[in-house]
Amino acid sequence: MVDELLVNVVEEVARFTLDDMLTRMDDVCACDICKTDMLAIALNHLTPHYSSRPDGQAYSKAGMQFDQARVDLIRELTKAIWIVHENCKHA
Ligand SMILES: [Zn+2]
Repeated sequence: MVDELLVNVVEEVARFTLDDMLTRMDDVCACDICKTDMLAIALNHLTPHYSSRPDGQAYSKAGMQFDQARVDLIRELTKAIWIVHENCKHA
């Protein structure tokens, strides 16, 4: 089954980039519900990049080739964080 694994590298990078950004934002709710909302909003505005080889080598290669994608990723995550933060009802 591992051979057929298809991974959206942008989603994987978005998950740990979002975690990293939220650790530096004390007043933003970082529960699983809010984080999933943030990821959904951001990923809907980003071009997916699929890889059939989700190993470290493929990740770093994608990272080097997609500098602009990383800039877009952080921009969209920042927007998504504030959209969810302003609509958070349970914090
Ligand atoms: Zn929350």
